[in-house]
Amino acid sequence: MTTSPLAELSTHVADLIARIEQALTLADLLVDEPFIVGKRSILSTLQKSLGALAPEERKDAGARLQDARRGIEEAFAVRRALLEEEARAEQLEADRLDLGDVVISQVLAPLSVGHPGIVAATQRQLEDVFVAMGFNVSDGPEVESDWYNFEALNIPPAHPARGMWDTFYVDLGEPETVVLRTHTSPTQIHLMEQAVAQDALPIHSVMPGRCYRRDTPDARHLATFHQIEGLVVDRGISFADLAGVIETFTHAYFGADISSRLRPAFFPFTEPSAEFEITCTICRGDGCRTCSQTGWIELGGCGMLDPAVFEAVGIDGDEWSGFAFGFGIDRCAQMRHQIADMRALIDNDVRFLRQFS
Ligand SMILES: [Zn+2]
Repeated sequence: MTTSPLAELSTHVADLIARIEQALTLADLLVDEPFIVGKRSILSTLQKSLGALAPEERKDAGARLQDARRGIEEAFAVRRALLEEEARAEQLEADRLDLGDVVISQVLAPLSVGHPGIVAATQRQLEDVFVAMGFNVSDGPEVESDWYNFEALNIPPAHPARGMWDTFYVDLGEPETVVLRTHTSPTQIHLMEQAVAQDALPIHSVMPGRCYRRDTPDARHLATFHQIEGLVVDRGISFADLAGVIETFTHAYFGADISSRLRPAFFPFTEPSAEFEITCTICRGDGCRTCSQTGWIELGGCGMLDPAVFEAVGIDGDEWSGFAFGFGIDRCAQMRHQIADMRALIDNDVRFLRQFS
């Protein structure tokens, strides 16, 4: 007598039930599905083996196997429904937005109030210093014709001094070339033209604003930066007046222990021209790496207005004289706050910015 293929049926059923119960997630259960109720299940294998039985045995065995399969399928369906329900609940919990949490965190957290960026704040402080010295504040366009940015400032086309400014050109067309201003100096030309047209000389004005140069940004340069320039046109203005304004500003803005000095330089729009240096703000004049042990750092340029500039705007150089000076606002902020890399000013890293609130 041969052993019935279903001799171990109850053991197989128990194994399959255990396998169903061991699936802890819907994914686990579905991975196992072919082995429990599908074609790769032991029940399917047994089904095929029934063909070898005698017809009278086959009918009885078939009925037993059918019962077993029904039981397994039912257990599988029950388990599947339970795990599906759990998975749904988990998803709902993950998607839930707890409005109570949001409201409570907003009530308890201190209100975060914005503040001016370090460059804007520096610009305002500089304006305040100059206004207190009797200057007014003027503004001018950032997109300029070649004439205002260069020619009226005694820098004709092809002049080698144009190499001092790497320029962004907006339009090279006729009748005139248009540039992003490389300095705030074109505003001086506008001011002098207006003053002549309105018979409104003298001028005592500072001009802060954004400028552009085709520079590769590094620790000391940005392609977009801010300058402030000063312009005085009056009767009997001398180089001593210029030196006095620079020194007064230096004390007022950087502190009583920081002084200024002037060194000969060249700019096309001033004659004579000078660079102005201030006591190193890092070492206070003792000498350090930043100032190359000199105790001085360069801040900007200045000089007496060149007669060619007066001529360009129609001011009588016999009656009027004047001076101009200019320096970087970003550079000023960098020196006053001892910021190692100027690029930090435009990185928008709030951890950096919050230090200056
Ligand atoms: Zn130093």
